[in-house]
Amino acid sequence: MKVFSATDIGQKRQMNQDFIYVSEEPVGNLPNLFVVADGMGGHNAGDFASRYGVSVVVESVRQDKNFNPVKIMRNAVEAANREVLKQARDDTSMAGMGTTMVVCTLVGGYAYVANVGDSRLYMAGDALNQITQDHSLIAEMVRLGELTPEEGRRHPDKNIITRAVGTADEVRIDFFDMKMEEGNKIVMCSDGLTNMVEDSRIFAILNDTEVEDKAKALVDEANANGGLDNIAVIVVEV
Ligand code: CA
Repeated sequence: MKVFSATDIGQKRQMNQDFIYVSEEPVGNLPNLFVVADGMGGHNAGDFASRYGVSVVVESVRQDKNFNPVKIMRNAVEAANREVLKQARDDTSMAGMGTTMVVCTLVGGYAYVANVGDSRLYMAGDALNQITQDHSLIAEMVRLGELTPEEGRRHPDKNIITRAVGTADEVRIDFFDMKMEEGNKIVMCSDGLTNMVEDSRIFAILNDTEVEDKAKALVDEANANGGLDNIAVIVVEV
């Protein structure tokens, strides 16, 4: 396994509210662990939400006695939801904060994924496939056929998300699993990448044999295209 990761403030923002976690070594009963989180909230709340949420996930996984990766990821994201929400309620300056979260682990030839929000996980083989669904108002309108994908891409309300970690007592988590073939790549990223770089371009960079560090190359491309938001990318090559 080869892993590259990068996060960057971008060209326009004052702080980086994206946070990533990468472990190619075991964490608790999981043989590896990858997380992308994109925080929201004013002042220091957004970057706190993503960083703290990820730390709760990692600690939960570390202590979890289960062996089922889906159960372990569910426990971890639910713990993060509880803890971030508790902080948001205890400290009024952090009210309303929350974070997206994509969690992935590779176990026995399969990738297991948990997702809340509009960060994404793609699997690249012969083509680039978006595995996660965006929990955003615009993505839901596109799924319902009320907007075309192209209208959705340029919509001003793109940033309104319909699910997050830490904003309500209950968190609804999507789970996915995929069989991994040799040569497959996984891309986990925040919307700061996908709003700036088209899928076709992401796929081209992943397949560019001249480029060793694909995560850095993707971040550079988002910045070259304007870097309007924070950018976070993890690329796992199997
Ligand atoms: Ca973002």
